[in-house]
Amino acid sequence: MSSPLSLSNDSWAARFQALPKAELHVHLEGTLEPATVVALAKIYGDALPESAVTARYATRDFSAFIEAYKWVTSYLRAPRDYALAARRLCEQMLAQNVVYAEVTLSAGVMLLRKQDVEANFCAIREAAEPWESRGLRLRWIFDAVRQFGPAAAREVARCAVGLRGAGVVAFGMGGDELSRPATEFREVYDYAAAGGLHRLVHAGEIGGPDSVLDAANILGAGRIGHGIAAAADPKVMALLAERSIGLEICPTSNLRTGALARYAGRADAGMPDHPLPKLFRAGIPISLSTDDPAMFDTTLTREFSTLDEMGLHKPEIMSIAEGAFRGAFLPEGDKSTLLRAFRAKAESLGLL
Ligand SMILES: [Zn+2]
Repeated sequence: MSSPLSLSNDSWAARFQALPKAELHVHLEGTLEPATVVALAKIYGDALPESAVTARYATRDFSAFIEAYKWVTSYLRAPRDYALAARRLCEQMLAQNVVYAEVTLSAGVMLLRKQDVEANFCAIREAAEPWESRGLRLRWIFDAVRQFGPAAAREVARCAVGLRGAGVVAFGMGGDELSRPATEFREVYDYAAAGGLHRLVHAGEIGGPDSVLDAANILGAGRIGHGIAAAADPKVMALLAERSIGLEICPTSNLRTGALARYAGRADAGMPDHPLPKLFRAGIPISLSTDDPAMFDTTLTREFSTLDEMGLHKPEIMSIAEGAFRGAFLPEGDKSTLLRAFRAKAESLGLL
């Protein structure tokens, strides 16, 4: 057993920052930094100080988070707004040395607002394209909103399947996990799978371990967003490990949406222990993400520093960093190439 290696150690933190990284759970809409929101609001005649955005972002429970999310996405009204968001996302990714990311787009919200999903997506892709040559590879996930129901989700899945050749790799579902049972969405997920897409579900975030089980057994999820509630049931943990169903864990998000307090059975927003080490040591594939980095005032590197605070050891932290590449929805050959580059750089930095 190696000794814990602090990310707060400057040299290790600097080397870790230089490491090529992958991120699998990040919402484009949640990457809108206050300055970008101010610029978008100005287009639509709202003079908004940055402090107003920061105040909206300072959430401590799930309903406040959903309200803030609804509010900020209300300024994404045209393809050019999405293009601006995509450019900022790429800048943030490269600043973190992220070389591969699967970015979630709230297609369910676009459809609710009667927007043209394909036009938004084209603008996003076009805006992100110049960054591809600078070493950032992006794939896309179209997300339905659970509380909008199965008919709306079906429409998102239809758009996602139609754009599969343009870089959409998965159909997912976020929103209020407690609003509707998984069974209502089985047909939609079957349709997405038949259309060649991977399946993702936000589950076990504010719901219990049964929600994770339903995501795996009823919806056929290949990975699960959050899934921290699985730690409350050894049988669910065993199932995830056995089937190699990965969990995309976002520690700061769990704190800021109140999910962690809920998992720990505590009403206050204190600092209960995060179940990540338990899930990881149970053999479940774990990757680390920011979820909504601007809203939660975090970065991927900062998320990794929380692993150190949780008492994980250096080889475990490196295994989780590598886990995002292993869990990517990419062909095996592409994944191997990225993994080789990750390991080579990690070795040259003295991190492996
Ligand atoms: Zn999410």
